[in-house]
Amino acid sequence: MIRILLFAGLACASLAAQADSVLIQNVRIFNGVDARLMPGHVLVEDGVISKIAGDPIDAPEGSRIIDGGNRVLSPGFIDLHVHLSGHVPSDQIDAYSTLSHVYATKVAKHYLDSGFTSIRDAGGTHPHFARAIDSGAIEGPRVFPSGAYISQTAGHGDFRFGDQPNPSLQGGSHYLYNGTSVLVDGVDQHLAAARENLRFGATQIKIMGGGGVMSEFDPIHSLQPSPAEIRAAVQAASDWGTYVLAHAYTSDAVRRLIDNGVKCIEHGLLIDDATAKYVKQNDVVISTQVVVYRELKNLPGLTQTNLDKLEAVLEGQENLIALIRKHNIRTGFSTDLISGMYPLLTQEFTARAAYWTPAEVLAQATSESAKVIRMAGKLNRHGNFGEIREGWVADMLLINGEPLEDISVLRDPGNNLALIMKGGQIVKSLL
Ligand SMILES: [Zn+2]
Repeated sequence: MIRILLFAGLACASLAAQADSVLIQNVRIFNGVDARLMPGHVLVEDGVISKIAGDPIDAPEGSRIIDGGNRVLSPGFIDLHVHLSGHVPSDQIDAYSTLSHVYATKVAKHYLDSGFTSIRDAGGTHPHFARAIDSGAIEGPRVFPSGAYISQTAGHGDFRFGDQPNPSLQGGSHYLYNGTSVLVDGVDQHLAAARENLRFGATQIKIMGGGGVMSEFDPIHSLQPSPAEIRAAVQAASDWGTYVLAHAYTSDAVRRLIDNGVKCIEHGLLIDDATAKYVKQNDVVISTQVVVYRELKNLPGLTQTNLDKLEAVLEGQENLIALIRKHNIRTGFSTDLISGMYPLLTQEFTARAAYWTPAEVLAQATSESAKVIRMAGKLNRHGNFGEIREGWVADMLLINGEPLEDISVLRDPGNNLALIMKGGQIVKSLL
């Protein structure tokens, strides 16, 4: 049977019809979890990994057969902190609302070409963009959108210029910058904002849970929002069977967020040992990023306030990574690249290899991130992925080189990703 993807009644030319089954022979399998390679063969049928075997597999009639040439087969990569729509160059920021999702298409393609078959958008990208990718209209990874990030007035999502009035206090739209951010104050508004994002198709909710670097008016030490407001967002999310991720740096902010039901902390660079222990005891995830904090200072247009705040949080980075290792805190792979920095994506692999083994970094970028994505419960419409396992979605990469020995091969996906498969569809092949 030949499957043709349709969008708006038109066959999408870029997605040629492909065989429903693909047999990949003669590979060494990194399953996403174990730090060893298993020689074998993998059969994909109807988008799913149907058989993994050490002995040769008989391909069903009509299968496409690929000789893996003893290459490493890995699950597709996952990034837990992406802002697809946050890459408008600073000199075009006036046209932000028009351009944000135009640039997002370019960023999405870059992610897929770099081997990323799924991402969690950590706020700002409209959930309908995720559906446009699912339909085949746009090429990119599967997107788990958080919708607009939810911020209190004067919080880390309050990107108004200094003299701009608060839109919600004037009775206008609460959404700013084309739905990137929603300014809300009070329990009712937090409930409404979270529910609005869920209505659009958000799979989890992002709140700004403390001071941030790129916003001008909120000190890093500030606590955002109140406990009752955090609980409101968590209530709305958990009523849909999903969870809240929250931006935060300090111990005080992280403790307040955990105490009020937040399950995933973004960044966390300034926490102390006791708080790290508390994170572990509560089975909370810390999704943190290495490269962006080192490169952000080179971004044009940063104010002195931004630079001072950046310096303050960067000082905590080494300590945080040591705490994650010491307490074995759940983490994944995430980048938080913004404003056109997305070409730095694959540097995150090598930056992490200074602290973790290549196998640990690869597990972060596959099975560990996938576990975090699955916290969205029934809002995950895509099944299980992130590991090479029978019955799981066939997101897979064939890699030139030995990534478990030298992860820097992933810095050059153009040459070193010989095959990219997303949901059983071959989106790139050099074979
Ligand atoms: Zn972010």
